[in-house]
Amino acid sequence: MTNYFVNDKGYYGDFGGAYIPEMLYPNVEELRQQYLKVIKEESFQQEFRALLKDYVGRPSPLYLAKRLSERYGANIFLKREDLNHTGAHKINNTIGQILLAEHLGKKRIIAETGAGQHGVATATVCALRGLECVVYMGEVDIKRQAPNVARMKMLGATVVPATSGSKTLKDATNEAMRDWINNPEDTYYIIGSVVGPHPYPDMVAYFQSVISEEAKKQLAEQTGKQSPDYVLACVGGGSNAIGMFYHFIDDEQVQLIAVEAGGKGVDSGFTAATTAKGKEGVLHGSRSILMQTADGQVVEPHSVSAGLDYPGIGPQHAHLFKTGRGKYVSITDDESLDAGLRLTQLEGIIPAIESAHALAYLEYMEFKGGENVVVCLSGRGDKDMETYMKHFNL
Ligand SMILES: *Cc1c(COP(=O)(O)O)cnc(C)c1O
Repeated sequence: MTNYFVNDKGYYGDFGGAYIPEMLYPNVEELRQQYLKVIKEESFQQEFRALLKDYVGRPSPLYLAKRLSERYGANIFLKREDLNHTGAHKINNTIGQILLAEHLGKKRIIAETGAGQHGVATATVCALRGLECVVYMGEVDIKRQAPNVARMKMLGATVVPATSGSKTLKDATNEAMRDWINNPEDTYYIIGSVVGPHPYPDMVAYFQSVISEEAKKQLAEQTGKQSPDYVLACVGGGSNAIGMFYHFIDDEQVQLIAVEAGGKGVDSGFTAATTAKGKEGVLHGSRSILMQTADGQVVEPHSVSAGLDYPGIGPQHAHLFKTGRGKYVSITDDESLDAGLRLTQLEGIIPAIESAHALAYLEYMEFKGGENVVVCLSGRGDKDMETYMKHFNL
């Protein structure tokens, strides 16, 4: 049987590894040696589970969406990550990593953020644990994402503008790496998706795997069946999708569908559909699939949803794609906004535009009737109201 998880060398098939500057090696190596041991400790598990329950509000419901189900002729279940504290799945990961940082004796937390969602989730857990927090963010993104910058500041974080290059996410990543190299003793770097050098993709996948751990149990309670026919999730870096897939990956009866951001169209030049347009290469410390020019320059991605606006995917996704275990598709900006409006008017739930990409793919699926479909509703739409207002003239 194919192994879809990380091997002892830090690889998923051809993908993964740790492609890092030599000066980062001690930090990443410390983490690699410690993470499995710490995570398995009874004290770690107790604290992690207690915070997920009482702080995040888990388990998140698995909701059978009746009117959506009628529209598609299948049982559509929504895994309600939008109901978590701070409004998305990202907090599952930052809770896990902050506890790991504490167990490693780190006193200072750094992160990088594009849209600000991961920055807010990180600043939140730093406030919770009383740890210093520095968030790197491109100068351009700071201007575009003022409400999230204000949230981070209110939570006590220092937001440092990255002023080089295009002044966006990749420049913020470079700054965060530089900080980590300069402060190897006391600083922990929280990465926000299943990307980066090994062991980050495996670690983040584990913290997010609570999504499918719960969903599997909830589905069995509600339907009497362990396995859904399909699970769907949107993919930026891929953390909510891996979390939603995790406990179904080795169950080959379950079809895994990952929905990327097609932007203005896969061939428009304004897209973030990585598997459609990308090639194998190294991005942010691991070998994966990324959108690049013939001479290997990273192509600037586009998506209406900030959380999916990323030029690559995590290495485990690259492996699921290449082996054919997962089906990777894309949805355009306009299709996702329509799906967001549809969910709102059929179920009274305003989704994040990221999550609306996963919902939009239901329009393309054909059901015999009675199939069980689980869609990860990764986040709520409050942060996207301006975009919805503009698009629908609200
Ligand atoms: C950040 C974000 C995403 C994309 O990140 P993944 O790591 O691919 O999950 C998706 N949905 C929401 C609501 C987000 O905030």
